[in-house]
Amino acid sequence: MLSNTYAKEISVVRAALGAAAELCRNVQDRIAIAKEDRSPVTVADYGSQALVCRAVREAFPDDPIVAEEDSTLLRAPEQSSLREMLAEHLVNVRPGCSLTDAMKWIDYGNAEGFSDRFWTLDPIDGTKGFLRKEHFAVALALIVDGEVAVGGLACPKLDGGTLVAVRGYGAEQGKRSISVSKIDRVSNARFCESLESGHSAHGDAQRVADYLGITTESRRLDSQAKYAVVARGEAEIYMRLPTRKEYVERIWDHAAGALILSEAGGRVTDCTGRKLDFTCGKGLARNRGIIATNGKLHDEVISALKALEIGQELPEA
Ligand code: AMP
Ligand code: MG
Repeated sequence: MLSNTYAKEISVVRAALGAAAELCRNVQDRIAIAKEDRSPVTVADYGSQALVCRAVREAFPDDPIVAEEDSTLLRAPEQSSLREMLAEHLVNVRPGCSLTDAMKWIDYGNAEGFSDRFWTLDPIDGTKGFLRKEHFAVALALIVDGEVAVGGLACPKLDGGTLVAVRGYGAEQGKRSISVSKIDRVSNARFCESLESGHSAHGDAQRVADYLGITTESRRLDSQAKYAVVARGEAEIYMRLPTRKEYVERIWDHAAGALILSEAGGRVTDCTGRKLDFTCGKGLARNRGIIATNGKLHDEVISALKALEIGQELPEA
C-alpha cells in the first residue's frame, strides 16, 4: 500500500496509464511490419496524450500538465485520415468520445514549464521501440516543489503491469512492492542502455564497463523500461551518456522512471553525480546525461566517468 497522501493521484495514474497503454497496444498490434510509416506513432501519441490529460484534468482541474505533444499538426486540413484513425482508436477505449474532445484533451498538456505542482507526460516514450514492436512506455509524473512526488510507468512489453511510486513510500508493480538487486561487486553488474546509439553513447558505456571490469554484455532497450529493469533488480546500472554537447534531457523522459527506481532502493543522478533538477522547465538544463543504479554501485560508476572524462562538462548556463 502506497501513501494515503497521494491516494487519489495514484488511482488516477493507474487508470489513466491503463487506458493509454491499451490504446497504444491496439495501435502497435496493427503496425504493418515492413512499412516505414510514421502515422501509427502519431495516432498512438495523440490518443495516449488525450486519455491521460483528460483523466488528470478531470481529477485535478487546477494542475498544469507539461506533455510532449500538442494538437497543431493534427488540426491541419491535410491530416483528415490521421484524425479519423485517432477517433477510431479512442472510441475503442472510451466509447462516445469525439474528435473535438480529443483535441481539447491533448491541449490540456500545453503547460510551458515549471510550477509548484505540475504533471509531466510522455504519451509514448521510446517511439522507435514502439515501431519495432518492442519496448515503449507511457510515463506520467507529478512534480511538487521541484521533487517528483508520484510516478507511473506503463511498460506494455514488460510483464507485471503498471509501475507506480510515491516519494518516501516505495515502488510497486501491480500490487507488489519492487526492489533493486543486492549486487554490490561492480564487476558482477549488469548494465542497460538505449538501443539507439544516437540517444546514448554506446562506445563510452563500453569504456566504463571495461574500466569497472564488467564482462556481461549490455542489455539494450528503448524507453523508461530501463528504469523499470533496474528497479526490478534485473540489472544494476542504466547509463545514458551524452552523444552530443547541446542535447538537454527532457523532464518527461526521466521523472517517472527516476522516482520509481529511487523508491525501489536505487539512485539516479547525472554523469557528474548531481541530483536531477526538475525546476528548469521542460529540460534538465542543469544536468548532463543520466546514471541510474541499484544505489550500491553508484559512486563507483560516477568515479569511473570522472576518471574517463565522460559526461563531465556542464551544459552551457
Ligand atoms: P530511449 O528510448 O531511451 O532511447 O529514449 C527515447 C528518448 O530519447 C526520446 O523520448 C527522446 O526525447 C530522447 N532523445 C532524443 N534525442 C536524444 C539525444 N540526442 N540524446 C538523448 N536522448 C535523446
Ligand atoms: Mg520520450
